[in-house]
Amino acid sequence: MSADFHRELGLIIGASRVLVAADDVAPFCTDWRGRYSGNALCVALPGSTEEVAAVVRACVAAGVAVVPQGGNTGLCGGATPTGGEVVVSLRRMNRIRAVDADNNSITVEAGCTLHAVQEAAREADRLFPLSLAAEGSATIGGNLSTNAGGVQVLRYGNARELTLGLEVVLADGRIWNGLRALRKDNTGYDLKHLFIGAEGTLGLITAATLKLFPRPRTHATAWVAVPDPASAVRLLGRLRDAAGDNVTAFEIVGRPALELVLRHIPNARDPLLGKPAWQVLIELGGSSDMGGDLSATLERALEAAAEDGIVNDAVLATSEAQTAALWALRENVSEAQKIEGISIKHDIAVPVSCIAEFIARADAALRAAFPEVRIVCFGHIGDGNLHYNQSRSDAQSNDEFIAQTGAVNRIVHDLVHGLGGSISAEHGLGQLKREEVLRYKSQTEMDLMRAVKQALDPRGLMNPGKLLSKVGAGALHA
Ligand code: FAD
Repeated sequence: MSADFHRELGLIIGASRVLVAADDVAPFCTDWRGRYSGNALCVALPGSTEEVAAVVRACVAAGVAVVPQGGNTGLCGGATPTGGEVVVSLRRMNRIRAVDADNNSITVEAGCTLHAVQEAAREADRLFPLSLAAEGSATIGGNLSTNAGGVQVLRYGNARELTLGLEVVLADGRIWNGLRALRKDNTGYDLKHLFIGAEGTLGLITAATLKLFPRPRTHATAWVAVPDPASAVRLLGRLRDAAGDNVTAFEIVGRPALELVLRHIPNARDPLLGKPAWQVLIELGGSSDMGGDLSATLERALEAAAEDGIVNDAVLATSEAQTAALWALRENVSEAQKIEGISIKHDIAVPVSCIAEFIARADAALRAAFPEVRIVCFGHIGDGNLHYNQSRSDAQSNDEFIAQTGAVNRIVHDLVHGLGGSISAEHGLGQLKREEVLRYKSQTEMDLMRAVKQALDPRGLMNPGKLLSKVGAGALHA
C-alpha cells in the first residue's frame, strides 16, 4: 500500500515533494530537544491550501493519520510522529498574502517563519509583537497551534490574542475559510479559538490573519539585579505604575541559568559584578516623542527601587549593540541548557502574586527530596510563567536523576496546581504532558475536550497521541 499511497500523494503535490528516503524523512521525525523520535510513512510538502486539503483527503481515504509540522521547534514532542503517520510540513506555504496597514492586520500562510512575519510588518511600518528565541525557524502555524507566548505577552498578549482569523483544512479535508480581519464579530461560536492551542489535533492551519500594532520608535533596556523573586514582582508593579503599557518585557533569569549561558554561548558576558542570584531584563517601548523620557522613567524607577532595597544593581543599555547583548543573555538560556544536557523541564504558570511563594516552596521541596539538584529557573515572570528546570551537573548522576522525572513532576506540578496554576503555560502538552494533565483537569473539562475532538476529528486521524491521552476518558485525580 505504501508505494501506491506515495504515488497518489505525488500526483497531488509532485513526486519530489513526497519524501520517503530514510535520510530525507529523519529530520522531521525527531524533536528539537532530541527527546522524542518516531517513524513516518513519508513527509508531504504541499504548497497551497488546496494541496493540503487533497493530501488530507487522501490520508482519510487510506486511513492514515496526519502529523502537522511547522519549524519543528516545539518543546513537547507535538510535531513528532509516533509511527506510520504522514508528516505534513507546511514549510513551503510561506507567502505573505496581504498587509492592511490601515486595519493593522496581516494575512500570512502558516509556513511563514515568525521572523518573516515580523519583517513583513516592519516593512509596512507596523509591529507584529509575538517574539521568542526560536523565531527564525518557528512558523506561524506552529505558533498558533501551541498558542505561543514569548517575551512580549505582558504588553500584547499571546498568539491567541493576536489572531483575528484563520484558514483551516479540517480533518475530513474540507477547507474552512475564517480569514476575517475584524475586531468585532459576534456571529456565534468563535471557531478559530478551537484550533489555536490544539497542537494540530483538530485540523491543519493553513493561513492566519493577525493583528499589527504601531511600531515602538524608542525603547529603554536594563539588566537589573534584584535580591529575590518577590522584589522582582514588586519592581514590576512599580514600573507599571511609572510607565503603564510601555513596559513591554519583564524577564527573570536565575544565577544557574545565567551561568549556563556564560559557559556555553560564545561572547556572553555577565553585565554585573558580584554574581547576583537573580536578575531581570526589562524593556520599555514607546512612541517617538517619548525618546529620552523612557530612559529617564526607567532610571528614576530603578533608583527609587534601589533606595527601597528592591534593586541591588543595574545596567542600562546605551546602544543597540548593548541592548542586543543583554537580550542574547536571556534568549540563549534554552540553547545553553540544550548544550549542557538533558533536564526535567517545567513550563508553569501561577498568578504573578504567587511567583515568589512558588519558587521558595518548590526549591525547598526539591532540595529536601534531591539534595544535589540543580534548579535552572528563568522566564516570563511578568506573565506568571516560569521555565523551572532540574538536572544534576555530571552526566552519570544526571541520568539517575532523569529517571526520577515522575517524582520531580509530582512535587512541582502539585504545588503549581495548589496555587491555582497551569502545568503548561506556553509550550502545550504534546506527548510530554499528555498523561500528566489528567491529574489536574477535572473529569468535566476532559470530557469537554474529548467531545470537541470527537466532533471535529471523529476518526482520530489528526495528530493522534498528542495533547489527549489515548487511555481513559476521564481524569486521574491526584
Ligand atoms: P512545530 O514544532 O512544528 O509544531 C508544534 C505543534 O504545532 C505540533 O503539535 C504540531 O503538530 C502543530 N502544528 C505545527 N504547525 C501546524 C499547523 N500549520 N496546523 C496545525 N498544527 C500545527 N515557545 C513559547 O511559547 N515561548 C517561548 O518563549 C519559546 N521559546 C523557545 C525557545 C527555543 C530556543 C525553542 C527551541 C523553542 C521555544 N518555544 C517557545 C517553543 C516553540 O518555538 C514554539 O512552540 C513554536 O510556537 C513552535 O512553532 P513550530 O513552527 O516550530 O511548530
